[in-house]
Amino acid sequence: MDQEQQLLRDVFGYPDFRPGQRSLIDSLLGGRDVLGIMPTGAGKSICYQLPALLLPGITVVVSPLISLMKDQVGALVQSGVRAAYINSSLTERQCRKALENACSGMYKIIYVAPERLMTAGFLAVAAAQPISMVCVDEAHCVSQWGQDFRPSYLSIPDYIATLPRRPVVGAFTATATGEVREDILRLLQLQDPEVLVTGFDRPNLYFGVLSPADKYAAAKKYLTEHPERSGIIYCLTRKTVEEVTDRLCSDGFSAVRYHAGLTPEERRQNQDAFVFDRARIMVATNAFGMGIDKSNVSFVLHYNMPKNIESYYQEAGRAGRDGAPADCILLYSGRDVITNQFLIEQSEPNPDLSPEQQAALRERDKERLRQMTFYATAHSCLREFLLRYFGEHPASYCGHCSVCEAGFELVDAADAAACALRAVAATGRRFGMMTWIDLLRGAKNDKLLYGALAASAEYGALAGWEREQLRALFAQLLEEGLLSRTEDDRPVLLLTDAGRCYLAHPAPLMLHRPNPRSRAAHPAAKQPAAAHPVDASLLAQLKELRLSLAKRAGVPAFVIFTDVTLQKICAMMPKDETEFLQVPGVGKAKCERYAADFLALLDAYRENGGQ
Ligand code: ADP
Ligand code: ZN
Repeated sequence: MDQEQQLLRDVFGYPDFRPGQRSLIDSLLGGRDVLGIMPTGAGKSICYQLPALLLPGITVVVSPLISLMKDQVGALVQSGVRAAYINSSLTERQCRKALENACSGMYKIIYVAPERLMTAGFLAVAAAQPISMVCVDEAHCVSQWGQDFRPSYLSIPDYIATLPRRPVVGAFTATATGEVREDILRLLQLQDPEVLVTGFDRPNLYFGVLSPADKYAAAKKYLTEHPERSGIIYCLTRKTVEEVTDRLCSDGFSAVRYHAGLTPEERRQNQDAFVFDRARIMVATNAFGMGIDKSNVSFVLHYNMPKNIESYYQEAGRAGRDGAPADCILLYSGRDVITNQFLIEQSEPNPDLSPEQQAALRERDKERLRQMTFYATAHSCLREFLLRYFGEHPASYCGHCSVCEAGFELVDAADAAACALRAVAATGRRFGMMTWIDLLRGAKNDKLLYGALAASAEYGALAGWEREQLRALFAQLLEEGLLSRTEDDRPVLLLTDAGRCYLAHPAPLMLHRPNPRSRAAHPAAKQPAAAHPVDASLLAQLKELRLSLAKRAGVPAFVIFTDVTLQKICAMMPKDETEFLQVPGVGKAKCERYAADFLALLDAYRENGGQ
């Protein structure tokens, strides 16, 4: 075992590196810049924290979010690493003290807000101590094309230029689009960097889409069926956040709210309640989450469809960061498309961009929304759709999403497609998808019978198709541009030129047709068969102990140990410190600090007949 692996075990308590970590660490230690593009939860922090311990001098980590810095530094200190952060959450006095300590060489790692880099106080640190590495977390914030542009990120190269010797520079992000990547390389002036993109797949996440008639009822059902799970419900608007939180609370759920309209005080309180496991459910707009490093989020429910797949994957990806199974479920309705269109139209123009650039940006936003809608109505593997969007070439069946689980068959739907297109073309009337589906199935409702649509030649022509299957057919016709949908409150379907052309020259049209009969009753995370069954009462006791230790240390529970580590403790039942140290997630510092408490609990459990 080499030095790096030894450190990974001793300090962080992990037996092995995750994909990509080793290579980035080696580059940084060898003095080569890196750009690491890894999905949320892949383990970017270790890529710079570990080399920071081996390099001489100080590592400066530029990070955009206060809460993130606090948790990361908290976790490092718990693991026995000397670290501190400098940002606006400190009082002037605390800040001066931290800078003094830094100047005297007390810290190995210093997290700093980008706005602070060029301040006299912070520059003094570099005058007193060698800075051997500068790492930029959430590096996409440097790009105007990114979601979260932070102008102060542009001062990072200025800061680096003030240093007597150029440190090695690492940049890390989960955003993979080409423009953003180019911006990072150029604006941060990375020199011959190793660019590493790890796979975007998160196998422990289950992806599901539901189109419930009543979203609240669907959300409530999920929460009731998984009473032990903690997670986030994302809504598009502040108003929806308020409504959902109120209803959940009056239905007896432990839920808190978060959006930009609340006072900073309430936001902080609610965030803490969630992070410290006092509140089980966080109902929030997308204002919540960046930098929230809570590892035991076991579901992310989207009450509305977000504006694009980048946002969706980032928000959904906050589930299951500890590697445990977690659910990412989107509750979709056609109204979400309209709300998003409205938000795009209303979005504040970025004053730094020219009118042409702004128009291009708006077009791009609309196209991204279209892609998101295709995901929400997809009838082929959802994971495949997501990974393909991020430029990968995944298998077309994952077995762990709502579409795969429901089962689908690949059929040539040319005849059915022609039938549907003819129906839309022939009547010359404007209706939404549901009406066309009713018509094709020959439904006997008033609208059809009294509207004389029942006389249409296509009435009942696809009576053998399930509603679900016809929805898949229409989704495909829209995706292929044979039909279009109006962008208003009650979208209606229109035949396009391409659709007319198809009717004149029919061709095979392959459709992933859902197979409703094999549909599972309800989406739920597959629990991979545990190698050792875990005793729920023991696990609960361990969690309680963790919570009391966390309270004493003033850190969130997962900073002490993650849920996965507790499960491993249950399964491995360590008898002494040596065995305790074997548990993945237990490093030397944590072992010294906590082994006694946990071992005592396990002893008591065994004595009481637990075994
Ligand atoms: P990111 O910043 O990429 O979103 P983090 O650095 O916060 O991800 O890591 C996510 C989780 O994975 C953390 O709980 C971290 O401790 C854990 N982790 C990181 N590296 C490893 C590893 N080699 N083995 C096991 N767990 C790891
Ligand atoms: Zn799938």
